[in-house]
Amino acid sequence: MPRLTKQRHIEMMDDYKNGMPLRQIADKYGVHITAASKAASRAGTTLRQSSQPLALHRASKRKCQTDNPEKRKAHKAVEYAIATGALTKSPCERCGSENSHAHHEDYNKPLDVMWLCPTDHKKRHREIKEAGFPTA
Ligand SMILES: [Zn+2]
Repeated sequence: MPRLTKQRHIEMMDDYKNGMPLRQIADKYGVHITAASKAASRAGTTLRQSSQPLALHRASKRKCQTDNPEKRKAHKAVEYAIATGALTKSPCERCGSENSHAHHEDYNKPLDVMWLCPTDHKKRHREIKEAGFPTA
C-alpha cells in the first residue's frame, strides 16, 4: 500500500466532497476502500448516506427552512426517520406527484406527516389559514 502524501490526501478529500464514491476514490489513489473511508472521516466529513430520499428531502427542506426551532426539529426527525427506514417517503397524497415533501400539521408530532407536492402543500397551508388554525 503506498502511503498518501498530504497533497494526495487533500485531492482525495476533494474528490470525496465532490461526490466521488469511496470505491472509485480507492481505485484512483490505489488505496484500500477502508483507508479511503478512514481518510474521509478524518477530514471531518461525515460519511454520505446512499439514501436518495434523504437528498431529495434536503432539497425540499431548503424552501421550508425558517428560524422556528420546532419546525427545524420536526424536519430533522423526518430526515432521520427516512434515513433509518422508519419513515418512507410517499407520493403526494392529493395528486400522486412524486415531487412530494413532508408537511407537518403539528410540529409537536414530528413524525405525523402528510406527503404533499409543492402545489398541494401551498393549498394545505391556505386551508389551515382559512380555518383559523395557527399556520406553520
Ligand atoms: Zn399534489
